[in-house]
Amino acid sequence: MTEADCIFCRIAAGTAPADELYRDEAIIAFRDLHPQAPVHVLVVPREHIPSLLDLEPRHAEIVGRLHLVARSLAERLAVADRGYRTVFNCGNEAGQSVWHIHLHLLAGRPMGWPPW
Ligand code: IMP
Repeated sequence: MTEADCIFCRIAAGTAPADELYRDEAIIAFRDLHPQAPVHVLVVPREHIPSLLDLEPRHAEIVGRLHLVARSLAERLAVADRGYRTVFNCGNEAGQSVWHIHLHLLAGRPMGWPPW
């Protein structure tokens, strides 16, 4: 997959639509098209990194910042106190379907453990 074919690169470039909640020079966040909870937001680096397996030491700061943006959105969307879950899926068996890393922020309902 090239970056031109990547839906999250296209959303980041503004050439595909999204219900966007946050944008800065390195990160965007938008609502998931098929929400699995009342709040389901994807927090995405603008750089095309296909999976967690492609992370390099230089990505340490951006990966940390994804979590800070998720926390800030959880507060803004008024779900932080009740609780929320953040998830990276890595690879086929984990259910990764979009090959551009993204942190799921899920909230607004009780969640079971372990996930299936
Ligand atoms: P994954 O399965 O962890 O890779 O998560 C990919 C997520 O992206 C899924 O929850 C999809 O519903 C979501 N998704 C796919 N395409 C779009 C889109 O164009 N806009 C918003 N969410 C999308």
